[in-house]
Amino acid sequence: MGYDCAMARWILHVDMDAFFASVEQLDRPELRGRPVIVGGLGRRGVVSTASYEARAFGVHSAMPTAKARKLCPHGVFLAPRFARYEEAAAATRAILSTFSPVVEPLSLDEAFVDLTGTERLHGPVERTAQEIHRRIRTETGLPCSVGLAPNKLLAKLASEVAKPGGVHIVHEEDVDGFLAPLPVGRLWGVGPQTARKLAERGVHTVGDLRGVDASLLHSWFGPAAGAQLWRMARGLDDSPVHSVRDAKSISQEVTYPEDLYGEEDIARELRQLAMAVATRLAEEALLATTVRIKIRWADFTTRTRQVRLPEPTDHPVLIADEAVALLRRGEIQAEVGVRLLGVGLAGLIAATFRPEHLFVPSQLGAALQQVRSRHGTQSLSLGFPGEGHPRREAGILNPGAKDDADAKMDERGRGRGGCGGVGQCDRVVRLPNSDHGVPSGQGLVLLSACG
Ligand SMILES: [Mg+2]
Repeated sequence: MGYDCAMARWILHVDMDAFFASVEQLDRPELRGRPVIVGGLGRRGVVSTASYEARAFGVHSAMPTAKARKLCPHGVFLAPRFARYEEAAAATRAILSTFSPVVEPLSLDEAFVDLTGTERLHGPVERTAQEIHRRIRTETGLPCSVGLAPNKLLAKLASEVAKPGGVHIVHEEDVDGFLAPLPVGRLWGVGPQTARKLAERGVHTVGDLRGVDASLLHSWFGPAAGAQLWRMARGLDDSPVHSVRDAKSISQEVTYPEDLYGEEDIARELRQLAMAVATRLAEEALLATTVRIKIRWADFTTRTRQVRLPEPTDHPVLIADEAVALLRRGEIQAEVGVRLLGVGLAGLIAATFRPEHLFVPSQLGAALQQVRSRHGTQSLSLGFPGEGHPRREAGILNPGAKDDADAKMDERGRGRGGCGGVGQCDRVVRLPNSDHGVPSGQGLVLLSACG
C-alpha cells in the first residue's frame, strides 16, 4: 500500500438515500411523497428499505413487515426488484469511476471512492465531491448523500451527517470537532453491547471516549478492541479503498474418484464446495457478488454457469442455494456421470460493511466455521428439505417451523418441522429467525457428516 506522506488522503463515501424506495418513486411518479416500503411481503417478511415518508411513521429497515403494516397502514408495500436496483447502482458506479479508478462498492447503495491525488485532474476535492453529488442526482434521478474526509471511517460518518441529500466535508483540522458530539454507537464495530458498556462508565460521545486512557480501554475491552476504540476516538483509520478490480476470485473444484449420478448427489457435493469457498471468503473478510459453477461430465464436456447476486454475501447457505439453482438451470444428463464439480466466487469486495440486508446477516456462517475449524472441513454438510441425505447427526431447523415448507423437511430423513424436531437427527439447534439469514419458509437443516 504505502501512501505518500506528503499527499493528503481524500476518501469519498456515497450513500444513496432510501435507495430501493427511491428507485420505486423514480419509476412510478404517483408514489412520490407517499410512504413506500420495500421488503419481504410474506408473513415473515422484513423491511429492506423505507422511504423517508414511511420513516416518519417509525418504519425502518430490518423491521418485520407485519409491524410496518401496523405502524403505517396506508403505506405502499412493494416486493424488491433487485435487477432494477442493480441497474441503478451500475449507473452510479459508472459516474464514480469517471472521477477515480479506485471505487469500492460496499453494497448496491454505498461506495467508497479514493480521490487522493485527483486534484490535478479534477480540481479541488471539495468541488469534486459537490460535482459527484450533482451528477448522481441529475443522471440517475436518485437522491444520495456524500461524505468527504481524510479516511474511510470519517467519510462514512460524514455521509451519515449529510443525510438526506447533502454533502458533508470533514477537513483534517476539523476532525476533533466533528467527532466529539457524535454518540459512540456511530463508530464502526461499536454495537449496542459495547455502547452500553461504555455508557455504564460514563462514556456517551466520541468526545467522552477520547478522554479515556488507552490502558483503561485495554482493561475494559482487551488489547485489540481497546486499541481500535482509542484510534477511532481520534478519527484514525488507514484502511485502503479496495477497488473491485483488485479482487481475485475464490474457487474450488474436485475430481471424483467415481462419477456422480443423480441430481441429488450432485447438489449435495455442490453444497459442500460452496461451503468450502464461503469459508475461505469469510476468512479473507470478503463478500462475493457472483457465484459460478463448473461441471465436467464423464465424456469431458464441460459447462460453466454463473449468476450475479442481488446483494454481496458471504453467507454459506445463500451461496450454496445459488450454486444449486445454477445446476438446476441446465439439464442434467442422467445417463452420463459427472467427473468434476467446481464452485467459484467472483466480484469480491471487502466485507468492511454489510449491505442493507433483506435478511439479517447471519451468525450461522460464523457458527459453521467454528465447528469446521474444530472438527475439520468434512464435519458439517448442508441438507435441505425435500432432499434425501444419507449422513446425519446434528440438525438446525428453520425456527418456529410452523410452515408447511418447514414441516416437509427431509423426506428421506423423515424429519419433521415444528416442535417435533428432525426425525433421525440427534440434535436440533434452534436459532432465532433473524439469526440464520435464510429466506423465510425455506427451511434449513444441517447434517453432520462425521460420527
Ligand atoms: Mg443508503
